[in-house]
Order: sequence, then C-alpha cells, then structure tokens
Amino acid sequence: MPNLRKKTFPLFIILSITIYLTILFYKVYTLDLKNGDLKGVSIYDRNGKLLRVFLSKDQQYQISTDSIPDLLSKAVISFEDKLFYSHPGVRVDAILRAFIQNLTKGKKFSGASTITMQLARLISPKERTYYNKIIEIITAFALELKYSKEEILLEYINLVPCGGNVRGYRTGSLRYFNREIESLDFSQISTLITFPNNPTLIIKKGKQLKNLYNRVLSDIYKEGIIDKLTFESSKDILAKIGYYPFPANALHLSDKFRGKEGKRVDLSIDRSIQINVESILKRYDNILGKQGIDNISAIVVENSSRKILAYCGSDNYYGVNGMVDGIKSPRSTGSVLKPFLYLLSIEEGIISPLSILPDFPTYFGSYHPRNNSNRFSGYVNASFALQNSLNVPAVDLLSKYGVDKFYSFLKQGGISTLFRSPSNYGLSIILGGSEATPFDIAQLYSTLANYGEFKKISYLKERDSSSTKNIFGKGGSYLTLKILSDIDRPKNQSSWKLFDSYQDISWKTGTSYSKRDGWACGVTKKYTTVVWCGNFDGKENPNISGKNSAGPILFSIFNFLKKSDSFSKPEIDLKKVLLCKASGFKASKLCKDTITIELPESSYLNECNFHKQVPIDSNGNEVCSQCWEIGKYSYKTIFDIPTKYKAYNSLVKINEYRPVKHKKECKRFYGDEKPIIIYPRRGSTIELSKNRDGYSPIESTVSYGGDDKLFWILNGKHIGKTSGESRYKIDPLEGKNILEVISSRGEKDRVVFNVVKP
Ligand SMILES: [Zn+2]
Ligand SMILES: [Zn+2]
Repeated sequence: MPNLRKKTFPLFIILSITIYLTILFYKVYTLDLKNGDLKGVSIYDRNGKLLRVFLSKDQQYQISTDSIPDLLSKAVISFEDKLFYSHPGVRVDAILRAFIQNLTKGKKFSGASTITMQLARLISPKERTYYNKIIEIITAFALELKYSKEEILLEYINLVPCGGNVRGYRTGSLRYFNREIESLDFSQISTLITFPNNPTLIIKKGKQLKNLYNRVLSDIYKEGIIDKLTFESSKDILAKIGYYPFPANALHLSDKFRGKEGKRVDLSIDRSIQINVESILKRYDNILGKQGIDNISAIVVENSSRKILAYCGSDNYYGVNGMVDGIKSPRSTGSVLKPFLYLLSIEEGIISPLSILPDFPTYFGSYHPRNNSNRFSGYVNASFALQNSLNVPAVDLLSKYGVDKFYSFLKQGGISTLFRSPSNYGLSIILGGSEATPFDIAQLYSTLANYGEFKKISYLKERDSSSTKNIFGKGGSYLTLKILSDIDRPKNQSSWKLFDSYQDISWKTGTSYSKRDGWACGVTKKYTTVVWCGNFDGKENPNISGKNSAGPILFSIFNFLKKSDSFSKPEIDLKKVLLCKASGFKASKLCKDTITIELPESSYLNECNFHKQVPIDSNGNEVCSQCWEIGKYSYKTIFDIPTKYKAYNSLVKINEYRPVKHKKECKRFYGDEKPIIIYPRRGSTIELSKNRDGYSPIESTVSYGGDDKLFWILNGKHIGKTSGESRYKIDPLEGKNILEVISSRGEKDRVVFNVVKP
C-alpha cells in the first residue's frame, strides 16, 4: 500500500496542477471586463456631463468612470488592500490565516479578500463555499495575468456595490452626494468607502457606520493621506448623505439607446442648453396648455458642426402623449418652406427681392389659394410677400418655378417624408400640403445658415464623415436671410431693436391650413432653432399660430443662446443689377425710374414687361390698327398689368399705374360694350331647387357684345372667368347675394338678388 501511495501521490499533484492550469488558462482566455451585463447605459453630453442613466440588465444603476481621483484610489487601497500593488492577486499568507481561523471558529470561509479577489466575486457572484473560494482565487490570478493593476482597480471601483441598486463609486457619489467623484472631499470619500462593506448601513446611518468610517479615516491617516489634525477633527463626523435623483435630460433622444447595456453614449447635446430649452418648454406648456395646445417640440443645431445641441421631443415626457418624439414626427409644413422657393427663384433670376408679385384672387386650375387674413394686397414685392407669408404670391411663384423642380429640391435638401408624387402635391406643397419633421426642417434651415451647403445634422459627439453638397448658392442665401431678419417679432419682442442682447435672427413662421401646427424656425450664424407646437393627437385648435404660439418660444431660446455675429456678405457671389423701380425686374429701355441692387452672381433676372409702348390718340385712349386715325396717335410708354388682374384695379397700389381705356368707337368691339347681367334679375328672389348634393346651381347670364374675357365675382370672391361665353353656373348663399361681371377692359355690371334655400 505505501508503494501505491508513493506512486499515486505525485500523480495526484500533477493532475491537480494540470486541472488548475487548465482552469486558469480558460479563465484568462474568457475573462472580459468589457462585458456589459453588470453595467447600465450612461448617456453623456458633448462635454462629458451626464444626461441620463439606464438600469443594467440586473436592474442596478451603474455609472462608470474612466479615471480615479488620486485621493479615492489611495483611500480604497489603504482600507481594502494595502498590498494591492505588490501581491499577485491573492495573498496566500492571509488566506491560510483566515482558513485556520475559520476552521477553529467553525465559520464559513470569509475575509482575506484582496481587491482582485473581490473583483473576481463582483464579476461573477457566487455563494461563499470552499469550492467557490478556490474558483475565485484562480479567477483573481487570471485577472492579474490579463489586466494591469490600474485596470483591475478601475473595474473594482466601477462595480463595487454602494447600497440599494447603486453600483460603483461614481454612481454612489452622484446618488448620495450629488457630486462627481472628482469633487469629493476626504470625509465624503471616507464615508463612500464604507458603503460596500455594509450597504444597509447607508440607510441606518447608525453607530456601526460611524465605526466603519472612523476605521477608514484612521487607515488613510496611517497612510499619510491626511494629517493628524484633520484626522482628529474629522473623527465621528460623517459626510452628509442625501438621496439625489440621477440626471434625466434629453429623454426622447436618449431613449434611442435604451437596451444598449454597458455602453457609454456620447451625444452632441450641450447639457446646459438642453436643460434650458427643457425649462423654457415647461414654462410655455403652462401658457399654451391654457389655450388647449398641449405639445411643444424644439431642436437646436450648431450650424458650424451640424450637431444637435438640444433635442426636446416634447415639453413633458411624462405628460399626455409626452413620450411621442415630436422632433421626428411629420407635420404639415405650413409656410416654413416658402423662404427656399424665394431663394431658388432669386438665384434663377425669376424674381429679385424687389420684384412685384400678384396678390389677387386667382385660380390656378381649380386651385384657389387664399391668404390667412382673407385679404388680398394687389401687387407686392417679393420681400414683403415672404415677410408677410402671403399665399397667392407664393403659389404664383411656384407655378413659375415648377412643382417638380421644387419637389426634387426638397428631396435633395433632406426632406424625408415626401411620400406622394410631385403632381399629387401640386402647388399646395408650398402652403403646407406636404409634411416634414422638425428634424428635417432644422436640417434645411441649417443649410440656409451655411449658405446652401447641405450636410446631415446628427446627435452623436463623434465626428461624422457624412458628405456635403451645395444645393443653392451663397448670394441667394444671404439675400433671403436678410429678408427673413426683417420679419416682425412676436409682441413681447417688439422692442427688440432696443435691447443690448439684440442680434439679427432670420426667422419664419408657419401655421398649417387646418390650424394643427404652429412652427417657428430661426437661424443666426451660430445656431438653428426650430419650434413646433400643436397637439400630437392632431386636434385642430384656432389658437395655434406659428407667430404667436411658437414664435415667443423661439425667441426665448435665442435669448438664452450665445449671441451670434451677423451673417457676412458674400461679396464675390453678388453683382450689381439695374432694376425697374416700379416692377423690381431688370430695367428695360422703357423703364425710366431705376434702382441698383445686388443679386446673386449666377442670376439672369427677367426683364420688366410691365412697361410697354402702346399707341394712344389725342384723347388719351388706346387705339389699334382698327381704330386709329393715321397721323393722329403717338406711342406712349405706360405701366400695364395683365388683363386678368384689371378687374381689381383698386387693389393695384402702384403710382405709375393709370389704367388706359381703348377707344370707344373701335370696331374691334361691337354691340354693347358693357356687359349686362340678365339673370338673376336685379332685386329678384330665387328659390333654389334641391339636388342630390344639396342645391342646384343657378345659371347666370350676361349680355355682352365684346369678344374678350369676362370675370365673374360672387359676393366679392372671384369665382371664374369665361371667354366668348356669357353663361356661368354659380352657387349663391342663402339671403342677399351680389354678382359682378367685369370685362377684361374693365367694364362691369353688378346685381343684388336674394336666394331662398327651402
Ligand atoms: Zn419697368
Ligand atoms: Zn381699336
């Protein structure tokens, strides 16, 4: 038997060592401190400030730190493991001592743990048994083989339990002291270090905690970290412990990273801007909420980097529909796309900022746009039309520029929610017929602030290499920004030019046709801000207004943001052009009164066709080859407007415009010159007959000998025109109606009649 034992004993040793080495090798191979299962997602702003923390998979709050303040690492080592830097992960002497103690006192194996062994237990928590202790020891050796002391200490500090569901010293420091570990004093550090040893004491704050604290204090005193005086005076005086909530900002944006446990996410957000925008939205939520406007979204972009600085999906994440991310929700664009149509048209030379555009009741096919005010201004210049967001001039301009072209521009400009075809949108695309997200709109306005250089906006801190492309020119951008900077600000901002904080802000509002969306988009050289307000459930509300609901929020945000320089003039991209003063188009040789302005270098502005030469007789009437007397007429330059607008001569407020009549006796016009309404008869009462859709229209009839166009106006509204046709179907109102018919030469008739709808 002794022989057998002699033979098997070395075999047993060799086998044990082999097994040990195999496990060790396996441990080294599989250990991964980057494994995120024990860690939550931490979201940081561009300056490394914490924005939000998500729970780890095992429901713990854990916020990692990258570096350990000197005082903290010294204190931890002196209290937990004085020989940390010299042992190989395990202290055999201490283990043996503890083993014997445990045997003699009959306790379970405990104590004698180095920081490395504690870390081994933290990354893989197990019951305290001899077997597990051995695994722990092997793991500790493996950790030391694979990682440096600094890495081990850092991981320990990031995973150490700090009471409740708080894991890691940084997490504990924020939770109990509302401070980053870098700014803890030694008394707070000493208090913090006691927590892992008995986490429940945090709540009790009893004598035991004080004893533990005094032990830490005496350890760091013995290590020379604090002097005797400090030690004596600090004894028994624990740091004040509170219970602070973790930061919770940019919730809609940070939600996108939920479930990415163990990740640190660095956003481009600026925490102080984010917090301020959040509180501005909260404040306005009270004001707008009283008007039945429940939701506000806002986004701020840094123009130079195209990085998002503030992202508020809604004003109250926990309120009604508050979790909806309004920044990414497509909404009717109202008038916020108009500046880009004007810009493109200026670049192409279709108009200059001073060109007059028609604001008359107009039909574009069956499309009859109206202004929000329900009034028409006659001829207005392009700048005025854009500043006052007039609809007819914008539609007229789009009909000249082309829906298809504008549509493909919007696609190029990153509007990602155009799901219909251009023809499906038609001209209404410029009045909010299309939808866009505040995100995409901010991107487009930031392109404007960057003088046409398009780049995607983004919210991660890391540099992105997304490409840039020029989608419009610098000259047009500058001129458009100028026009937008002269738009009247909301009421409480009306004395803005007097403020020290005054800065140029180019801005545009939008209100969707159905009063569901209020927009305010503003740019300075530094920032682009877009505010949307309305109701996420799509409720209409007559109080919603881009200017009065969203506008004040926009200016509150700009008042907080750093003041920005004005946009600099891109001299090289502008050229001087001589304009006709009355029309704002390029002066022809007939335009006597002129003005010089700057236009984009690339533009070839249309020539004025309002000034024209017509033959006039001695009575001042226009004549033609049919009616002139040879030698009794002369050519005269007049300012003329298209015939279709002559029915609204009183709206045309252009000094030079003097309507000229054609010679009465001209044979070109035969019979009665004046149109006469025959039906309905003056003062008559008509009872309408019912049909399937309501009431049948009545066919009004005019007697007219001329062959030019007739314009039909019912109750002040232009309802259509006929050419060589003297009948027109009308849908009168109940009660009193006024029908007017005007020839293109300006002759008209008018009847008042009554209608009964039985
Ligand atoms: Zn002219
Ligand atoms: Zn004539």
